[in-house]
Amino acid sequence: MLTHTIEFPDLTQVKLRLFNTETRCKEDFKPHKKGKVSLYTCGPTVYNFAHIGNFRTYVFEDILRRTLKFLGYQVTQVMNITDVDDKTIRGAIEAKTSLLEYVEPYKEAFFADLQTLCIEPVEHYPCATHYIPQMIDFIQKLLDKKIAYSSHDKSIYFSISQCPSYGRLSHLELTELKSGAGGTTQDEYEKEYVGDFVLWKAYDPTRDGNIYWDSPFGPGRPGWHLECSTMAMHLLGESLDVHVGAVDNIFPHHENEIAQSECCSGKKFVRYWLHSEHLIVGGKKMSKSMGNFYTLRDLLAKGYQGPEVRYMLLQTHYRTQLNFTFEGMEASRHTLERLNAFVLRMQESSQEQQGASGSCRDVLKKTVKAFVEAMVDDLSISVALAALFDLMREVNILCDHHKVLAGDAQEVLEVLQRFNQILGVLNFEQHHSIPVYFQQLLEQRETARKEKNWTKADQLRHEIQLGGYVIEDTAHGVRLKKKT
Ligand code: AMP
Ligand code: ZN
Repeated sequence: MLTHTIEFPDLTQVKLRLFNTETRCKEDFKPHKKGKVSLYTCGPTVYNFAHIGNFRTYVFEDILRRTLKFLGYQVTQVMNITDVDDKTIRGAIEAKTSLLEYVEPYKEAFFADLQTLCIEPVEHYPCATHYIPQMIDFIQKLLDKKIAYSSHDKSIYFSISQCPSYGRLSHLELTELKSGAGGTTQDEYEKEYVGDFVLWKAYDPTRDGNIYWDSPFGPGRPGWHLECSTMAMHLLGESLDVHVGAVDNIFPHHENEIAQSECCSGKKFVRYWLHSEHLIVGGKKMSKSMGNFYTLRDLLAKGYQGPEVRYMLLQTHYRTQLNFTFEGMEASRHTLERLNAFVLRMQESSQEQQGASGSCRDVLKKTVKAFVEAMVDDLSISVALAALFDLMREVNILCDHHKVLAGDAQEVLEVLQRFNQILGVLNFEQHHSIPVYFQQLLEQRETARKEKNWTKADQLRHEIQLGGYVIEDTAHGVRLKKKT
């Protein structure tokens, strides 16, 4: 048997290019410290279950993280948990419970959903409420520098007119915001300028119940933008390599993060900004407020599985909007079934067809090249997947012609496993996941059929089906498959 395995290019030498929202260009990726990447990803506000639009962003971030690791980088990622904001406070008051008790089940559900979607755990999941002293220090620094000011209700605002580069991420026309349209509208009357944003929201007993923190500026709570800057800088340092979110985070959230962080530290906050496009429904962003959303749990209740939802979310390039439909969900299920049937076929060939011929080597080399080139070109996943489908098609033809022997199938499996380090959707456990009991029923049925005992064979088939499996005819005989 050939022992040679398919060589991947030296991945540490491969140039990764990423589209930086700040420059609106694809740039060569060079982290600050060679071989290491600090990555900050805006996490959920835990006032309810996350919907699959939110998870499109988290799946994309996972693909980014896995690609960086695939290329040999050591990644330190932070995903914050926003457990204090208007929505969590309102929810806790309505539920007549404490803030922490209110958010706990949603936090737990979020982590369970991440697991269902095969999203890798990251290094840090800081909760905003654990960083209040650091946020107070942050505000104090901005007050000392006279970049922040206190309004008459004792809220603290960031003054964007003190930040000359304000607007550089969003490229929005911000002259109106900067030149002072404030002081007029009722909502904004506390601010000097309409674009100024809150760093510390003064306590209001009617709105906040008994939820507040003491500070030198009076009781209150931190603003949302400040939460991310503080936790990012505390856990990853004053300058980070990559910061990610969905496009709706660009303005004002990330613009404000840049302003306050850079004014505080005097250093560039983020080297590469990446933003993913939305999951949409009938042309509109999927969102809680529009009511056009599905949670992951809704889809699981309809019989879909985590990897199928993950596949649906990851198949489209992150900078393209993705339209959610149930037809699309069915298509994803079908595609994933085909891919997993291919994995299973390779597993069976690797055990059954002794020897190796090198028959798959050329197509594997071609596929590895195409897959890697696509992923390092701003994570062009649809192109990478197309290379995988070509591989599947060509190897299936070779297989039909009995040209794939055990060693060849093993090489294919190794490549699939490497690709799956990024994709995270292929199932290499199918072989073993059928319980022994049902395998035995299948064997008994085969014996009954050989003995022409059709009644017994039918009974056994019925029992297998009741257990959730179907019997499939393959070139190598019958096998069991989970019923979908
Ligand atoms: P939230 O919990 O509302 O703060 O949102 C968490 C993350 O999900 C943020 O990065 C949002 O930008 C992102 N997000 C919200 N709706 C969508 C959507 N329809 N498609 C993709 N990402 C979304
Ligand atoms: Zn954030």
